[in-house]
Amino acid sequence: MSPIAAKERASRKNPSVLHRPAAPLHWGQAGGWIEAVVGSMFSGKTQELIRRLRLAMIARQKVQVFNSTLDARYAKDHIVSHDAARIPSRTAASARQIFELVEPETQVVGIDEVQFFEEEIVSVCEALADQGRRVIVAGLDQDYRGEPFAVTARLMGVAEFVTKNLAICAVCGNPANRSQRLSVSKKLIEVGALDKYEARCRRCFRR
Ligand SMILES: [Zn+2]
Repeated sequence: MSPIAAKERASRKNPSVLHRPAAPLHWGQAGGWIEAVVGSMFSGKTQELIRRLRLAMIARQKVQVFNSTLDARYAKDHIVSHDAARIPSRTAASARQIFELVEPETQVVGIDEVQFFEEEIVSVCEALADQGRRVIVAGLDQDYRGEPFAVTARLMGVAEFVTKNLAICAVCGNPANRSQRLSVSKKLIEVGALDKYEARCRRCFRR
């Protein structure tokens, strides 16, 4: 068999070898994977998570959505983006609890504000993907000091698909990848929205 024919045959067995799709929507039934949607505040992460979950629901897949008990900005039983898109969700106090709440027939697991969870969330996402599920996480990649969130960084490392969103700098209007805290709090996690943070570019960000 010629090398080209061999490659074609291999690609038929595993369609992702030659024709790796830009969006994982059509990746077929086999195997699970992790998608990480990351970026600063106001970069549209939750909006993108909701969009992907909605498409899965339209495809009649069984979807479960989780957020952290720490994220009490909006309704507890929904995740809500800054542009007011919303989707039902359950709060979980820990990574382990998410693992326990996922039902056997669930095909797609969405997790918002994934940086709120402890490091065990990485192995939980891996285990869910290993079971053949599509796992979509959204989270901040950097904290208010511009330091990477360890959990998000590790998830980006193990994910099959990483989407890094940029916001718009509130000072100069350029693309922004940092979250400027406007209050003087030194807590690593300070839940809030427009009144507490704004998106800033590298140049306008102040440590
Ligand atoms: Zn700027």
